[in-house]
Amino acid sequence: MIELEAALEQILSALPAPRSESVPLSESLDRIAAAPVDSPISLPGFDNSAMDGYALIANDLASATPETPVPLRQIGEVPAGSVFDGPALKSGECARIFTGSPLPTGSDAVIMQEDTRSEDGAIQCLDAVKPWENVRFAGEDVKQGAHLTSPGDRLTVGRIAVMAAVGVSSIEVGRRPRVGLLATGNELREAGEALQPGEIYESNRRTLALLVSQAGGLPVEYPLVPDRLDATATALEKAFSDCDLVVTSGGVSVGEHDHVRAAFEKMGGSLDFWKVRIKPGKPFVFGRIRHQLLLGLPGNPVSALVTFLLLARTAIKRFQGASNAGLERATGVLTEAVHNRGDRRHFMRVHVDGNGRIRSAGMQASHALSALLDANALLDLPPNSALKAGETATILRIA
Ligand code: AMP
Ligand code: MG
Repeated sequence: MIELEAALEQILSALPAPRSESVPLSESLDRIAAAPVDSPISLPGFDNSAMDGYALIANDLASATPETPVPLRQIGEVPAGSVFDGPALKSGECARIFTGSPLPTGSDAVIMQEDTRSEDGAIQCLDAVKPWENVRFAGEDVKQGAHLTSPGDRLTVGRIAVMAAVGVSSIEVGRRPRVGLLATGNELREAGEALQPGEIYESNRRTLALLVSQAGGLPVEYPLVPDRLDATATALEKAFSDCDLVVTSGGVSVGEHDHVRAAFEKMGGSLDFWKVRIKPGKPFVFGRIRHQLLLGLPGNPVSALVTFLLLARTAIKRFQGASNAGLERATGVLTEAVHNRGDRRHFMRVHVDGNGRIRSAGMQASHALSALLDANALLDLPPNSALKAGETATILRIA
């Protein structure tokens, strides 16, 4: 039995080197940058007004108050998207200006409209302004050449917003893996079919397909696989002919109906490990064939979900080159006592509220799905440990 970190290390080191492709910026959300992006221009691109008002020379208004307004002569207007085409502004003059419009040459400040009055053909200024007041300077936000994104960064809405503003229209990102999903078990039926005695609805492929997509992979769902060695080998061969990673569920325990390991070896794959010291999810198979990986999850839906999140998800993200590939770790405070009498780390399904208060999300047995209704984190509970209410614990966010 292998520790979780060692298992993860083996899986990640077996991944092929990430490959990249170019996508339009509009389709890059949550993709992983494959190349650095530096800003081709400065933001703002030119000195401009932060207000609707009048561009002027600050020194002219030194004595301006509401009681002693200073009149200025308006010599023009600078609507958004244009530049002032008159001569440089001189003392006693002003130009109508709008938020974002370039500052006319000669001016060194903007008085906001609310501090002016239009009277007798003059603009009466009711307040003084400091030099460069209400002016946004070229390059004060982003300098031309500034580093915006590094390889391995996830492209968030915020990053995309900045890159759009500097005119980036396409970006190099890590290629997404095709992830084959197989569910094994004679007892499994598709949704919509009538259940015969002893049968259950298959639910892992649906859940795993969503998790694969969330991790940036392209899920490929295959038909249900009966518990026979030949059928399992055929299904694996089909999936490996078409996918970068293959994720199976069920059939990895020690029963005589568990065929995933044997079938994988039969088709020439090599198995690296098949037990990880975690709960739920002790049976977890990792194998390699050519440059492709087999991740064999246990069949219990909760075990499949937890092992996927701890191991397969990270592999799918790293396949795309993500530097931050694991679940987000945080600490919280327990609202109830928890214990783990076993010798495996227990990843309990818990709910963490906005103040970091942790409570169990429900029944913790590995076949019990109901706790997933409310779970938004996994509590990482060390082996042979007991924690009291009020103690700090580590959680991994899953929603
Ligand atoms: P196994 O890992 O094949 O021994 O399956 C463990 C448990 O999970 C059994 O109760 C199975 O019926 C159940 N199970 C296996 N695969 C699935 C699946 N795809 N959807 C729902 N339950 C499953
Ligand atoms: Mg089974």
